[in-house]
Amino acid sequence: MTEERNLGGLSKTDREKLMQSLRAGRKTGRGHRAEPVRKSATKAQAFDFASLPEIKQMRMQMAAAEMIGIANPFFRAHDALAGATTRINGREHDNFASYNYLGLSGHPDVSGAAKRAIDDFGTSVSASRVVAGERPFHRDLEHALAELHGVEDSIVYVSGHATNVTTIGHLLGEGDLILTDALIHNSITEGARLAGAKRLNFPHGNLDALEAHLETHRHRHEHVLIAVEGLYSMDGDIPDLPRLIALKQRHGAWLLVDEAHSIGVLGARGYGIAEHFGIDPGAVELWMGTLSKTMASCGGYIAASSALCDYLRATAPGFVYSVGMAPPLAAAALAAIGVMKREPQRVARLKRNGHHFLKAARAAGLDTGPSDGYSVVPVMVGDSVRAAMLANALLEDGVNALPIIFPAVAENAARLRFFITSEHTAEQIDRAVHLTAQKLTALRESGVGLKTLMDGAR
Ligand code: PMP
Repeated sequence: MTEERNLGGLSKTDREKLMQSLRAGRKTGRGHRAEPVRKSATKAQAFDFASLPEIKQMRMQMAAAEMIGIANPFFRAHDALAGATTRINGREHDNFASYNYLGLSGHPDVSGAAKRAIDDFGTSVSASRVVAGERPFHRDLEHALAELHGVEDSIVYVSGHATNVTTIGHLLGEGDLILTDALIHNSITEGARLAGAKRLNFPHGNLDALEAHLETHRHRHEHVLIAVEGLYSMDGDIPDLPRLIALKQRHGAWLLVDEAHSIGVLGARGYGIAEHFGIDPGAVELWMGTLSKTMASCGGYIAASSALCDYLRATAPGFVYSVGMAPPLAAAALAAIGVMKREPQRVARLKRNGHHFLKAARAAGLDTGPSDGYSVVPVMVGDSVRAAMLANALLEDGVNALPIIFPAVAENAARLRFFITSEHTAEQIDRAVHLTAQKLTALRESGVGLKTLMDGAR
């Protein structure tokens, strides 16, 4: 190893660039995107992806992790159904990294419905619903989702992410304004980008700041959309929906609530944040949800007025020009809704488990941020390297929980995120919390983390 290439095979210049990008991440706020890398490829390089600055930067980050001996905690291969437990490399683990909140993926009724749908309709509808035509499960699912949300209709898309991108991108345009919580999901920011509308963030959960934006900017725009999550996937907390509704009514704005992590979770029956607060669901223009979490399937939807759903069905590009929901996936989601309605005790168990996790974690001295203790509880680590090492140390002891690191969150907001399900036992929760506290303390005491890495590399 030469003097020049002593950090995981990185040259001195590359190493300094890596350190600069990591240092920049330490100072930025939440949800910071990595700085766009300057594109300076020569003509010859333009054909070689490996020479793209973005790819070089990604490789540098991977090499740095390898150099300090951190196994990649992402893309772990599971050999079995992932629920409250899972099998990784042939070994059982307690699993806190799945959105299978009510244990419905793998439920016999859900799998049975999917298998029957394959027998009856095959594995694909083979074209957009406009062209390939309707199947009974498409509208049945849309009616079931509309009923769940207490609104007139819904429209189902093949991906949750695409649901936000195409709906927001289509409904809003230049001259409009989109106001988003700083922790809003990427699919909503991508939708806003596609719309070409002006977008303003307000600090996470800060509705005073949202109100100030409305007061300053509302009159300059034709349409204004406020977008929030029903339960934030990063921090696990719930927005003040009654106040949001009052604000949007006062200022004449539309409200989109992304219920990806709150449907099946909040409310006595799991009907979401409207049920939780006991508000009239008709007061929200767009209820958005995904089928990939509680619903044990894949896809997304907008539940709204018939007027809006009809318009989206006729014109939204991600619907009109994309294949209809596959038979087993639509049937699985429909069956999952059925089990959820028949067995509200699952929702009650999930709540008990979420609250138990939060209480135990706080008692163990862990920083759980603003989590309200439902399906998502973060454990703040404040250092990407340490968060990845903590995840790996837990895996050795049979606990699977994944880190969220820069650039998904600011470096000082790096954390381990625990997803709780109705199927976890109190023992699994207590053990995971105990091990997390023990291993995080050990890592802190050893001083290992991004700071030591950066200091060592100077
Ligand atoms: N919205 C939120 C809040 C999410 O967390 C996710 C995915 N985790 C999505 C939308 C996208 O859903 P899907 O993964 O089903 O495409």
